[in-house]
Amino acid sequence: MKDKVRIQPLASASGEEVHEPISRKGFLSLTGRYAAIGAVSGLVLKSSQEVLGQNAKKAVSPPVRVPAKSEDPIVLEKWKSENDQQSGPTPTPLPPGSRVGYAVVGLGHLSLEEILPALEMCKKSKLTALVSGSPEKMKKVAAQYGVKSESCYSYETYDQLKNNPEVDVIYIVLPNGLHREYVVRGAKAGKHILCEKPMANTAAECKDMIAACNQANVKLMVAYRIQYQPHNRKLREILQKKEFGTTKVVEASNCQSTANPDHWRHKIKLAGGGVLPDIGLYCLNTTRFVLGEEPTEVFAYQYSTPGDPLFKEVEEFVSWQMRFPSGVIASCVSNYDVHESRRYRVLSEKGWLNLDKAYAYKGQELTRAKADGKMELHETIGIAEKNQFATEIDHFSDCVINDKKPFTPGEEGLQDHIIMEAIYQSAREGRPVKITSEATNASLHGPEPEME
Ligand code: NAD
Repeated sequence: MKDKVRIQPLASASGEEVHEPISRKGFLSLTGRYAAIGAVSGLVLKSSQEVLGQNAKKAVSPPVRVPAKSEDPIVLEKWKSENDQQSGPTPTPLPPGSRVGYAVVGLGHLSLEEILPALEMCKKSKLTALVSGSPEKMKKVAAQYGVKSESCYSYETYDQLKNNPEVDVIYIVLPNGLHREYVVRGAKAGKHILCEKPMANTAAECKDMIAACNQANVKLMVAYRIQYQPHNRKLREILQKKEFGTTKVVEASNCQSTANPDHWRHKIKLAGGGVLPDIGLYCLNTTRFVLGEEPTEVFAYQYSTPGDPLFKEVEEFVSWQMRFPSGVIASCVSNYDVHESRRYRVLSEKGWLNLDKAYAYKGQELTRAKADGKMELHETIGIAEKNQFATEIDHFSDCVINDKKPFTPGEEGLQDHIIMEAIYQSAREGRPVKITSEATNASLHGPEPEME
């Protein structure tokens, strides 16, 4: 039978037989490294014909590369044609004993539904402690995830985390109005901090949090999961390469429906605002991320249905425009009382890019359109999904292990709060408001995350 997969044997530096590596930057360097690794580990590589010929109908290991370094992936025998979507490199998890330990603070929807399951999928991170105001709930969660009872804390005993050597990072998943206090106390306990978005209630609080982490010499990252999400990152890459020429317009909307006026999201002291800091923030933060520039001016409208108990303290609806130095204008909409819709579209000279479910936990659909003579081409870009929470948590662990600045540090969260305060001011005063921050997009980020 004719074999469709053609893998050309190559000669390595040491003369041993190796196979074409699967694409990925670090992955490609394996060929060179193999001479040394092979010599140290006594690695023997045989061609697949040799192995399969000798062992027809026997359980065997076909040719494989096993690098000694834990961060280098095992390279399995290749079999897929280049005509099909390629799989990524095999995962390179750290052994559980070497992973960064996380204390998760607040066991509400996000923690129980997304973060704790994601920590189980992480490669560099693990759950080691819990903090909750409900002993009953925490006992159950600790049993589910194998957290020791002595590593379960209340909000009163929270500061004792400093004595727990298994905790490297504190992950704050509390209502927004509590972020400042728990970040400052966590920094004083000498732990690195991952803080949910929005970073706080105000820009002033963000400044306190950054100062506290700097003073304690601990790292601070804001959990902007979209900046680690493959479809959003791909769209940004296409814009960076100017594949469709100059970008002119961004249209973004993030909307959902809420129902419980007693929930903290509808209390100004705990939420800091309404729809804008909760979900409108995704339109704001992601637009800045994909464009790679900072707005200089905003103009906004705000509305709440009169008499609706949901919107007694916080706003229902914010619509705003942001003007960028390149000339791009972004139009953003966020509403708390319409059916879920999370999408954005970027209009450029030679085509548009559309990302449906852009800000959702999964299900992103990236399409683009351009003209080709008499044809209008619409293309769907399929990218393997990854758990966004696991990816962002592992990025922070990578920063802790390798002493790097996070890609989305506290300064990135502060910038969003400065812009949100200008949006509220504009809506209040009915006029455009200039952005006072002079930070550049690059200065607000750490080095690019290593994405597999
Ligand atoms: P939630 O209401 O489901 O959970 C909040 C937790 O905080 C609960 O365990 C609650 O017991 C605890 N808590 C402590 N003090 C409280 C108080 N005074 N009032 C109310 N709850 C109190 O909320 P959530 O949806 O899990 O949101 C938590 C944080 O995560 C918020 O900052 C939110 O913006 C953020 N969030 C981020 C994402 C994301 O995709 N990154 C998604 C949802 C929420």
